[in-house]
Amino acid sequence: MTISDAFLTHNYARQPVEFVRGEGARLWDAEGNEYLDLQTGLAVNSVGHCHPAVVAAIREQAGRLIHVGNLFYTDPMVRLAERLATVSALGDGTRVFFTNSGTEAVEAALKCARKRRRAGKIISVHRGFHGRTYGALSATPQESKQAPFAPLVPGFEAVEPTAEAITAAVDSGTAALILEPVQGESGVYALDADTLRAARAACDAHGAALIFDEIQCGLGRTGDLWAWQHAGVQPDAVTVAKALSGGLPVGALVAGPEMADVFAAGDHGSTFAGGPVQCAAGLAVLDIVTDEALLARVRASGERLTARLAELPAVREVRGRGYMQAIELEGIDAMALVGRALKEQRLVLNATSPTTVRLLPPLVITEEELDDAVTRLAELIS
Ligand SMILES: *Cc1c(COP(=O)(O)O)cnc(C)c1O
Repeated sequence: MTISDAFLTHNYARQPVEFVRGEGARLWDAEGNEYLDLQTGLAVNSVGHCHPAVVAAIREQAGRLIHVGNLFYTDPMVRLAERLATVSALGDGTRVFFTNSGTEAVEAALKCARKRRRAGKIISVHRGFHGRTYGALSATPQESKQAPFAPLVPGFEAVEPTAEAITAAVDSGTAALILEPVQGESGVYALDADTLRAARAACDAHGAALIFDEIQCGLGRTGDLWAWQHAGVQPDAVTVAKALSGGLPVGALVAGPEMADVFAAGDHGSTFAGGPVQCAAGLAVLDIVTDEALLARVRASGERLTARLAELPAVREVRGRGYMQAIELEGIDAMALVGRALKEQRLVLNATSPTTVRLLPPLVITEEELDDAVTRLAELIS
């Protein structure tokens, strides 16, 4: 067993488990115990652990070319950019900037919006989460995450995630409004369609960029390829990361026609970003998560999941849709429950607050596995 904090910083509350292998919705620890994974490395392993197509794409590409950098072209990079631009359907002229993580995709979006409207303010909404680097953190209005690291980047403003507050805040001095159509890290809060429509209208009225952060809720997680499809509201740019490369570090700013031509040579960059291995993996993942039959299954099975969760004792609210859901507990400590789930039921979950458990099953989980997971959860709660 290799469980030691001796040389690791203390910024994570790690569970005392060492995982050694994964396949689909299952994980195995060093002692050979089998687990059901409803946490998926925080919405990363959407196509399950070690999906054969992803493993094959990585193996093949790693044996051919691993890195050349961004002063050249590689086939996987060019093809993944085209595929992302196409499936995002943001319009002709859409372009992609690759990064190595979600927070960097957000940084790129913010820099792009600021260059488009010089010195413009960036508006984000309460309960939003956009990452840990300074720009993204400045757009993440959560006291516990921001306060220790002040002063933050100037020119950011946070408003309530309501149509009225957004309409009042966006003006001709606004560079961008950034929000998650379904807020993930704060505990799965879907913004209603009216709020998203008001965001679109306010940005249109004042020429501000509307950026949707779909790093967690995108790529099929809610049962639609993009969470915005639910409200029928399109952004000017979208940030993606997490699930895109099946577990390899990756991110992307997909910039629609309004933002696609803002960056000029030398404006922004990243050494590793868009590397052939992560892009080859990304192409394999997109083939899987854009499958309409898979998405329909996630929608239908997500509805059944909501219904089953709502019947559990001590659950007073179920939020979210598809395979991005959270339960609000009464009289049970969510953090303790997650620890017990791991030890007693071999079920991998995540708590986003002392009362909230988040469920992020892989999109490829079978109906039997998902039923089994809810049964294990019911066992724990009763
Ligand atoms: C996880 C997340 C990020 C940050 O991504 P990292 O890869 O951890 O930097 C940004 N936005 C949203 C919505 C996220 O869920």
